[in-house]
Amino acid sequence: MAEEMFTDERFKLTDEKAELALEVLRGRLNRQLEASLEVCVRCGICADSCHYYVANPKPEHVPAYRAEQLRKIYRRLFDPVGKAVPRWVGAAELDQEAVDRLMYAAFGTCTMCGRCVLNCPMGVDTRHIARTARAMLTAMDMTPEGLKATVDIHLKSGNNMGVDEEDYVETLEWMEEELQDELEDPTLKIPVNKKHARVVYTFNPREVKFFPYLIQAAAKIYNAAGEDWTVSTESWDATNYGLFSGDNSAARTIAHNLEQAVNHLGADMLVMAECGHGYRSQRWEGENWAGHRYPFPVMSFVELQAQYIKEGRITLDPTLNTKRVTYHDPCNQVRSGGIIEEPRYILRRAVMDFVEMEPHGVENYCCGGGGGMLSMSEFSKDRIAAGRVKADQIRATGAQIVATSCHNCLDQLDEIKRHYKLKVKIQNLSELVADAVIWPREPASAAQAERNDG
Ligand code: SF4
Ligand code: SF4
Repeated sequence: MAEEMFTDERFKLTDEKAELALEVLRGRLNRQLEASLEVCVRCGICADSCHYYVANPKPEHVPAYRAEQLRKIYRRLFDPVGKAVPRWVGAAELDQEAVDRLMYAAFGTCTMCGRCVLNCPMGVDTRHIARTARAMLTAMDMTPEGLKATVDIHLKSGNNMGVDEEDYVETLEWMEEELQDELEDPTLKIPVNKKHARVVYTFNPREVKFFPYLIQAAAKIYNAAGEDWTVSTESWDATNYGLFSGDNSAARTIAHNLEQAVNHLGADMLVMAECGHGYRSQRWEGENWAGHRYPFPVMSFVELQAQYIKEGRITLDPTLNTKRVTYHDPCNQVRSGGIIEEPRYILRRAVMDFVEMEPHGVENYCCGGGGGMLSMSEFSKDRIAAGRVKADQIRATGAQIVATSCHNCLDQLDEIKRHYKLKVKIQNLSELVADAVIWPREPASAAQAERNDG
């Protein structure tokens, strides 16, 4: 439990801290949050939606129980009965015990995956409640250390792994050479800071630091499509852990930096790397944080790859991927972003044997790595235990490859693969696409588009 984990002075409640947290709650109370805090009828239907509960059915793992930890504080502040006779309505002060419970409920055992939201007959948004609780804890400087460090490094260095510009540019040059060698074409490029390109592409820093071959895969797809694209050195990190810490100010700054980079390059659109929460942050939350509309559209690389295939800009040969493949839908893309059909459209054309896991699409279970959980080592045991649901789903497909389009999912799937001894390889969608791309590319034609559509 959280109270045993957070013994540091930083996690001790003071009157000043409590006031900061309550100020956040007051400030964030809008119609949607208020409705979610008011309308729960305690039916318990949400229990089976949550991978934590399915893996370990204890009361603390019921989504409504988690939400109740914030509701108690809300009632004490805003419910007339809660103010007068707190016990009658289960209202509670924000004391140390309440803080410890909030910590475990909002950070420790909720990946903000949104599956319970979809399955609640009353429309309670437990994900929204969890993020509000996280924001309150963050306002008190009680963000778990790893998550706090990830946000701080991003704000300080421009990316969440502190990669400096020299290393970043060198990696891009290295991958450009690798691509030229792979395709025996010295004219292929990863254009850096090109003005007025159609597309500005972003990366997850893990690609730059640990998985540069994913940069090569993306570059191969862009070159195959004949895209007018570029990457920025000003701001290029697709991630935004401010979404997970609940800190809107940090999230706004990070999203703003990307927006500025696109504006400074004068590009037509921003394409987010295969990163679930990064896509959600920039595409669906960024304009709310900024308070204005972006002057350009934002899309996911998953959507763009599907578009290239549809338009005949790339042609795939599925016989180059013969193993059985299943797809794990990242929560922030499928439930929060509406990217449902695109990965399936791609896989049916990129591999010979695509099989769905059950359930899938918007009903897909979280892998357990969402909500910034991989950065919070305090909760690893619960995270791996909750991953059993995903491991069972994967095993039942008989797949040899699990494709996904999010780095947090990739990491978590890799860990549960080892823990639950699954004989599968975990891959990014774009890797499979890059492997299946027919090269040299043919000029796009109507006949080709038709072929891709068939
Ligand atoms: S399903 Fe909705 S209404 Fe029912 S207990 Fe869960 S959150 Fe409350
Ligand atoms: S958002 Fe996901 S992890 Fe959190 S309570 Fe709901 S189902 Fe569970």
